[in-house]
Amino acid sequence: AKRQKGNAYCRFSQTLAERAGDRFALERALRRALAHEQFRLHYQPKVDLRSGRIVGTEALIRWQDEAGTWHPPDSFIPVAEESGLIVAIGEWVLREACRQQVAWQQAGLPVVPVAVNVSPLQFHHPHFFETVRTVLESNGLAPQTLELELTEATILVDHAHVAKIMTQLRELGVALSIDDFGTGYSNLSYMKRFPVDAFKIDRSFVRDLPDDADDAAIAQAIVALGRSMGVTVIAEGVETMAQAHFLRGIGCEQGQGYQFSRPVDPDRYAELLALPALV
Ligand code: C2E
Ligand code: CA
Ligand code: CA
Ligand code: CA
Repeated sequence: AKRQKGNAYCRFSQTLAERAGDRFALERALRRALAHEQFRLHYQPKVDLRSGRIVGTEALIRWQDEAGTWHPPDSFIPVAEESGLIVAIGEWVLREACRQQVAWQQAGLPVVPVAVNVSPLQFHHPHFFETVRTVLESNGLAPQTLELELTEATILVDHAHVAKIMTQLRELGVALSIDDFGTGYSNLSYMKRFPVDAFKIDRSFVRDLPDDADDAAIAQAIVALGRSMGVTVIAEGVETMAQAHFLRGIGCEQGQGYQFSRPVDPDRYAELLALPALV
């Protein structure tokens, strides 16, 4: 039994060492990815649940390394965040989404806001507001065509600073939404102090709709809260007609999910934009 324990310990520490090695290898690979333009953005429509019309889109990062392997964002965003690389990656995402937005506009496609995910470190970087302003300006893009998705983790620390930056962004005309709404620990009165345009109901509360009574109650509560605060509510991870129907029934205005479209490349997205409605 003793030897087994020893072995187990060896295996464990080796795994940790391997993990640390992996982490630095991944960090190096991410630097290369940035330098060699291996990132791409895919876009997932946000849909008005009544009309089926596209009312917005979310940019989601994709990475294909030199060997051709695709890496999902959940596999590298956390390391990018820990290493600080997210600041540069996030700026690339912002520039690319704005460049793409201009290209769609010039192609004569209907204009809807493009939403960019912002990580905590990126938002708290001293130059964040200036970066957003400059990127919009250099693209000649109206701030009203940009939305930023923030998480509760971002707004839960340093209230005064967060409120200041959020207010500056809002005054500029950029829309703000709270991503993964309901999964954080912010109390609701606290949430009331921040100037936001939308709550995104987290996918975990949508998955078991309409049958799960607890999730139904949570979705309903978020919709009611949004309504009382004048905030748009959008459900993420809508995969079925039944979910979409239920959400529309409780007054949720918008939805996003495989039911309407997966995240797609810019060309495919342009085709979706030209359609009268998604169902
Ligand atoms: P998120 O912001 O909550 O994005 C939604 C995720 O759910 C996306 O995964 C999307 O592909 C997926 N999704 C959309 N509809 C459905 C559905 O109907 N069913 C299911 N099962 N999934 C659906 P993705 O693209 O893998 O991104 C994962 C996370 O990585 C994002 O979660 C976001 O937190 C992060 N991320 C992605 N792009 C960026 C970025 O440019 N910057 C930052 N900071 N984070 C990003
Ligand atoms: Ca998001
Ligand atoms: Ca989300
Ligand atoms: Ca999520």
